[in-house]
Formats: sequence, structure tokens, C-alpha cells
Amino acid sequence: MSARLIDGRKLARILRDEMAPRLAALAERGITPGLAVILVGEDPASAVYVGNKIRACEAVGFHSRTIRFPAEVTQDELLGRIVSLNADPEIHGILVQLPLPDHIDMARVLETIAVEKDVDGFHLYNVGGLVTGSTIFSPCTPYGVVKLLEAEGIEIQGQNVVVVGASNIVGKPMALMLMSRGATVSICHIHTRDLAQFTILADILVVAAGVPGLIIPQMVKRGAIVIDVGINRMPDGSIRGDVDFEGLKEKVAAITPVPGGVGPMTVTMLLENTLQSAERAAGIRSEGIEDPV
Ligand code: NAD
Repeated sequence: MSARLIDGRKLARILRDEMAPRLAALAERGITPGLAVILVGEDPASAVYVGNKIRACEAVGFHSRTIRFPAEVTQDELLGRIVSLNADPEIHGILVQLPLPDHIDMARVLETIAVEKDVDGFHLYNVGGLVTGSTIFSPCTPYGVVKLLEAEGIEIQGQNVVVVGASNIVGKPMALMLMSRGATVSICHIHTRDLAQFTILADILVVAAGVPGLIIPQMVKRGAIVIDVGINRMPDGSIRGDVDFEGLKEKVAAITPVPGGVGPMTVTMLLENTLQSAERAAGIRSEGIEDPV
């Protein structure tokens, strides 16, 4: 058997195309969705991620602003800038590219972003809201995974889901979002003894560990759905996920490729969150979030 490929690029394109009428409705009210991205320091990977986000904004017709600070910027200066963006009516989403230099208190920075502009979903209110079902913005990567599963018609309710990785930005919110949709979720991490004992039970396996080739065919159930969130740059410059794609595709029912799976969805959900924020500011959208998570 060869697995069905879950094509994140294709779904991302469809979702971005579907934004056009919503943008037109906002334009009638004189509103263009606006995203501000703050980049501190010269980390090359961060610069690439920010560039991708800004290009995506331009491609769909959003207004975007990149605000660069040197690595030595003071925390007060950074917080002051966030406060002014919070009050800026042209900006509907504010994102601070992580990681930040050590002298800056990341939690303080994230909590200074206005909850209703926190399009990354990292503010404590939005994180806590994932637990209670009242979040305004779901974090982009797990939100993208949920969209992929839904678009593929993959049942979540009642399924055994195993999430490998328990970070605040991927693993933990992923587990909460799938549990809220009725899955029975196990979360594995670096201290999990005998990872395979868990992964073999998964109907849906989501892997976000940052370890290339961590999941091999013996660790998955035949016919499982595998979502590979990992992005690992190999010494030869190629990009690999966290699963042995070639091996797994002969055993599982459906699998995301890397690149071309979850990655394009992450940026698309950032656009979606920014669009929703602009719609809320325009009074077009009153409810908190699109999906009950
Ligand atoms: P992280 O380093 O913050 O967290 C990694 C998690 O994996 C931790 O909970 C750790 O305990 C667990 N882990 C590490 N090694 C493990 C092992 N051998 N067995 C079991 N668990 C293990 O990473 P992150 O920010 O959550 O990102 C994870 C991966 O996803 C990375 O490759 C990252 O590049 C990628 N990522 C991709 C996207 C995307 O858009 N596709 C977005 C964010 C992160």
C-alpha cells in the first residue's frame, strides 16, 4: 500500500483564494488587514521566517509592517513599541518573532500584546482559552494541522491521537485542540519511556519533536494517519521531517510530506487569524473564533 499524500500546499492555496471575497467586504468598509512583525537581532532563520510571513501578506493583499530592532534593544523600548501597535488602527495582528535575546523577558513581551491582536495565540489569555474553549486565536501550526485533518475528512472524535512533542507552541496546544474535538490524546516527550509503545496505538500520530527520522515504520500502526510537523535542515541543505517518510508511506493510510505539508499551513493560519481580527475590528465577525476548540 502507498499512503495518500496530505497536500498542505494545495490546501493553503485554496484557503488563501477563499480569502478574496472576505478582503473585498473589508475593502468596502475601507479596511485592509494589517500585520506587524517584530524582529529582534540578526538570527538568519528568524529573518527567513519573517520574510516568508511578509511575502505571504503581500501575496494576499494584506498590509504588513516589519519592525526591526538590534539584539541590544532594551525591554522597555520593545514593550513601548508593542503598546503603540496595540493602539494602531491599521494593525490587526502583532507578532514577535521568537526566540528573543536572553535579556528580554519573553513572557512579559507576549503578555504586552493586546489579546485581540495576538494572532500567534501565545498570550496567556489565548493559551488558557484553549483549555476552556474561549481562545480568540488558536496558535497557527496546530490550527493548520486541524484544518488539514478536517479538509481530508479525517474523523477526530473518538480517535486515539498521539502527539510527540510537548512544546508550548506546537505539542501542548495541538493536544488540547484535538482533545477538545473528542480525541483521546497521549502526549509524549523527551522523557517518555519507550516511545513506540505509545505511537503504535495512534490512529492519528502528530510528530513535532525536531528529531529527523525519529518515527520509523515499526513504531506506527498499519493504516494510521501521520502528520509530520518537524522541519530539520540536514547537513546537505535538504529539509527533512521527524518521520521516516519513505518507510512510513508503505504502511500508513495518509501522511504529510516535508516540505509541503504542515509548513505552508502555518503561514496560512497566521493570515487567517489576521483576517479574522480585521473582521472583528470591522464588526463583521462577532464571535471569538471560527472553530470551537
Ligand atoms: P521544541 O524543541 O520546543 O520542542 C520539542 C519537543 O519534542 C519537546 O517537548 C521535547 O521533549 C520533544 N522531544 C525531543 N526529542 C524527543 C524524542 N527523542 N522523543 C520524544 N520527544 C522528543 O520544538 P518545537 O518548537 O515544538 O518544534 C518541533 C519541530 O517542529 C521542529 O522541527 C520545528 O522546526 C518544527 N516546527 C514546524 C512548524 C511548521 O510550520 N511546520 C512550526 C513550528 C515548529
